Amino acid sequence: MIEKLVRIYAKYDVAKIAPHLLIYGDLSGACGHCQATDIKLDTKDCPQCGNAFRYVAFRNVKSHIPKIYKLIKERPEVIIVDFDDFKRETGAAKAQEFFKS
Ligand SMILES: [Zn+2]
Repeated sequence: MIEKLVRIYAKYDVAKIAPHLLIYGDLSGACGHCQATDIKLDTKDCPQCGNAFRYVAFRNVKSHIPKIYKLIKERPEVIIVDFDDFKRETGAAKAQEFFKS
């Protein structure tokens, strides 16, 4: 059996993902809650605000495929979120807030 990465679509409230999201760039990550930077991928809690990272989004997912396999193996409880989905939905949520006020 050869297991490969398959994207699964699920319904989530992005407002609930953001505080527990590690946004991983080219070399390090940033906290989705307090925007702390230089966070390593294997960090479980934000060193600045203490929030647990339950979700990880890769800014450039194609260049981090081996890291994703490693992450799934080492921390199967972490949910990998598509960064573009997250960005689009947080943008949409912000726009909605704007029109409410
Ligand atoms: Zn933080």
